[in-house]
Amino acid sequence: MFLLHALQEQRRKAATAANGQRDWRVLSATVCQTPDCGEPIPEERRRAVPGVRHCIDCAERLERHKK
Ligand SMILES: [Zn+2]
Repeated sequence: MFLLHALQEQRRKAATAANGQRDWRVLSATVCQTPDCGEPIPEERRRAVPGVRHCIDCAERLERHKK
């Protein structure tokens, strides 16, 4: 599951790099990178948070754990 997502992400990056484009689409994950989650990350969130790696639920959980 996780590997498949990583592979898709890699392929997407390669395709985007070939077009000479580097934007939030490249920086942000399309699905949550929490191993047991894998929720799709809404495009709105990916655009708002460049380099986002986690869905809103996981991001909030991680944030809470930090404190
Ligand atoms: Zn998640």
